[in-house]
Amino acid sequence: MEWPKRELPKLKLSPGAFRILNYLYGTTVSRADISHALGFNPGTVTRAVNELMAAGLIEQLGPRASSGGRPAILLRVNPDYGYVIGVDIGGYTVKIGICNFAGEVVYHVKYPSRSFMPEQLPELVTKVMAERKGRCIGIGVGISGMVTENGHTVFCPNLKGWDDLPITDMLAEATGRPVFLDTSARALAQAETWFGSPNKETDLIYVSVGYSIGAGILISGRVFRGSTGFAGELGHITVTDDMPGLRCTCGNEGCLELIAPLGMIAYSTAQRLMKENGVYSPLRIQVSKLLPTDRPVEEQNRALWLLLQEKPELIQNAAAQGDKIVLPVIGEVAYHLGVAVANMANLFSPRLVVLGGGTLAALPILVDEVMRVVRARTVSPIQKFMEVRPTALGETGPIIGAGTLVFEQLLQRHNYPPTPPHES
Ligand SMILES: [Zn+2]
Repeated sequence: MEWPKRELPKLKLSPGAFRILNYLYGTTVSRADISHALGFNPGTVTRAVNELMAAGLIEQLGPRASSGGRPAILLRVNPDYGYVIGVDIGGYTVKIGICNFAGEVVYHVKYPSRSFMPEQLPELVTKVMAERKGRCIGIGVGISGMVTENGHTVFCPNLKGWDDLPITDMLAEATGRPVFLDTSARALAQAETWFGSPNKETDLIYVSVGYSIGAGILISGRVFRGSTGFAGELGHITVTDDMPGLRCTCGNEGCLELIAPLGMIAYSTAQRLMKENGVYSPLRIQVSKLLPTDRPVEEQNRALWLLLQEKPELIQNAAAQGDKIVLPVIGEVAYHLGVAVANMANLFSPRLVVLGGGTLAALPILVDEVMRVVRARTVSPIQKFMEVRPTALGETGPIIGAGTLVFEQLLQRHNYPPTPPHES
């Protein structure tokens, strides 16, 4: 099949085959499972599966292990049908990777965001594309910032030089492939439904706490954007009056983003370490081994702040040992973050709340505390039907998220919301 450049291929499939292909993402199942889950009769499933296999979109695996009777043959998405490129532009790193057609990351590179220039992106994406034979279906880009639906960035306060850029045009021109842009948190919310949630939940909130904070909200399988397209700015809700004069990147005061990202946790911890003497603190012993103590106070404060950002495991380990400097910081951050997430849960009543992002990945103890606060602060009839958990997608999750933006368009998931699998 000849694919038009800068456009997605049109999958000429019957509606039943479309639904089955959607259903198969992130899972391996038998024909009988499909029939049961989607309510199709076995003849319809056989015809649609044959159609998908003839198109090369799915493949048969071996038989499922069986305790009796004829073992069922398992089906899955054909990983080699083509590939997508996922790009994630975050506050700490820029990640560029290749996802096979089944959504698995098979290659990736990353660069520190601080020294990354937007002009470098087209060339580096082209270089990654050269790593894989086969057809590049499209490119998805997730970014930490506000974007328009036609692929422009608008306001990315935590990324230098990325405001007001026609990212999709830049990349489409360089690569000849179709490009889709959204916020990282929204991309990841969709990826969790496709690849991270066995129940394929369609009412889901993804909360990303990395260098900055954002939320992706899925309502009945569709991304909620609000009237402007900028909905989900969880980092800029006001949570405190206790920090007068300290301005957030958005221009406001008291934002959640001034409290919860790793940079702020490291700052608060460093402040407490300098002020609070005589309390039990394994962290103090650790940092005294790593930092020289003969520098001017200001220089020393800054070195301490940087050290804690570079080595967040120092904070994590100290907290796990009951460090009296670190625990109050973690407790305060978890309170603000947990209340913010519980407020969202009370408003939207999701089935699943997923916590992700670099800050939370570095501090598992914070994740546990946030989950505890969310459960305690979400009203019980909602909480009873809601799961809150860390992301299941791992370190390359943001690449899968960006890649999912392409799958979402190709498979028209918005027209075919995923069907939860049957109970077996
Ligand atoms: Zn703000």
